Parts: sequence; structure tokens; C-alpha cells
Amino acid sequence: MFSFNAVASAESHLTDTVTNGFKLRTVIVDAGHGVKPENAPKGHYSRGADGSFSNERNVTLSIALKLQKAIEKDINGVRAVLTRSTEDDVSFERRAQIANENKGNLFISIHCNSLPDKIIRERVGGTARRPKYRSVRVADRSGKGTLFLVYALKRSTEAENEIKNNQVEAESDLDGGGLDPDDPVVMILTNEYKRRFRKQSVNIANLISDEIVQVDGRRSEGLRGQSIYVLCHAAMPSVLVETGYINNPDDEEYLNSDEGQTEIVNSIVRAITKYKNQMEGSGN
Ligand SMILES: [Zn+2]
Repeated sequence: MFSFNAVASAESHLTDTVTNGFKLRTVIVDAGHGVKPENAPKGHYSRGADGSFSNERNVTLSIALKLQKAIEKDINGVRAVLTRSTEDDVSFERRAQIANENKGNLFISIHCNSLPDKIIRERVGGTARRPKYRSVRVADRSGKGTLFLVYALKRSTEAENEIKNNQVEAESDLDGGGLDPDDPVVMILTNEYKRRFRKQSVNIANLISDEIVQVDGRRSEGLRGQSIYVLCHAAMPSVLVETGYINNPDDEEYLNSDEGQTEIVNSIVRAITKYKNQMEGSGN
């Protein structure tokens, strides 16, 4: 039901993005995850990852609140709309709906990455000829830096290889269980995305990545395509920013610091400003 609305909504903004005179008016700022409220409406919810002293949902809210203020203060004539402004989680479905109801031109989703535990085999005795082992789960704190997810229904072979080389969890639970490649609605939304939003989604992701690498001197793992519900259902260019690894001690410290959050926010604001200038540039 909702998905058909998203398609209709996408059609109604068509003129905004393909004709001259495009203006970036509204940026949707999406704080990933949250605490599912009692009596929450039906939909998909996700609590997010935990660090050693903090958790993803609080970090994303804190960064999103700062980002909303900074966009409205520093980018002339642009409004920023939050999909969630308290610790209460908002369903994936409602987040996309908020983005479309507010006629967003750009969707920025804030998240933190986390590596899954590794399973190692540990010797627990036995003899030299017949050693005994057990499997132990250990935290993998080696991930560090940023990663950018853009929507892709199926992983390309290239992305698959990248994932094999670099075991990043990358928000595997964010497809809402609802992005079935054989579902006609998903096919329509995916084609719409490819035709109208993919190029600019990649563009804004690269612009943010460049700012974080060049100005903040932090690591970027680059862009990856992933089946993510909100990126598909928001009828506008969209990127999910993994701002750092909450299960890496250095990154967790940075993500929770006022300095770190401000650096991330300023990088995103500079990238949006560049994006706005490109899209509204002379000759358009
Ligand atoms: Zn997340």
C-alpha cells in the first residue's frame, strides 16, 4: 500500500529533478535505529549496534540533531527535516513516508558500523596427537573509518568480492525483509531509483567521502551497493553514511565526542553545499 504511494510521490517530483531550475530545498536527516516504543505501529524496527560504553542509536540521534541545525544555519534556503528526534524508533516505512511527505530532495541516513564477532578455535586440552578444541566467539574491533551505502537490489559481483575481502556487516538487517527482487513494487521502485536517483546518490556519497578523507584525515572504505529499505523507498537521491565503527575503541571515542560529531557534521554540510551548487549551477 505504502509502496504504491511512494511510486506516485516519486512521479509527482519528476519535474523537480529533470527540468531546469532545480532548487535543493529540503534535506531529510535520518537518525538510524532507536528504541521501539510500546504500542509501536506495525512496521520494521531496528535497535542498532552496541559499542563498549555507547550505542549506535544514541550516537546517530546526536549527530542527526547537530546536522539538522547546521544545515539550516549554514546552507541558505535549505530546510532539514528529521525522521526521528527522540530515542523512540520510527519504522523504516514511516521514515520513507516522512521523507516523501516533506518533498525531500536529498536523504541522508546516519549510522555507525560494527564488525560481527569472529569465531575462532581454541585449544582446550587433549593430547599432542589428539588435541581438543572448542569454538569461541570473539569481538572483532579491527574495523575503522567511514563507509557509504547506496541502494542496490542485488549485490554486483564486484561488491560481493569486496565483501569477501572485507568482512563488514554493513547493516544487513536494514532491508526490512521486504525487498524481494520478484516483488513487482520493488522492481518498479528499483527501476525508478536507477533511472532517476542512482547517479546523484553516488555523487553525494562521493562528495561526503572526499570531505571526510581530505579535510578530516579519516579513512573511507568508499561506496557499496546494498538492499536498504529506506534508500529504495525514499523517492530522492539517498545515501547511508556509516560514520565510523562503534565497536572499534578509537572510533567509538571519536563518534561520542563533541569534536568528532562536529567534524562529521561539517563534512556533510560542505558536501551538501557542493552538491547544491552543482545541481543549481549556472546553465541549469
Ligand atoms: Zn545502523
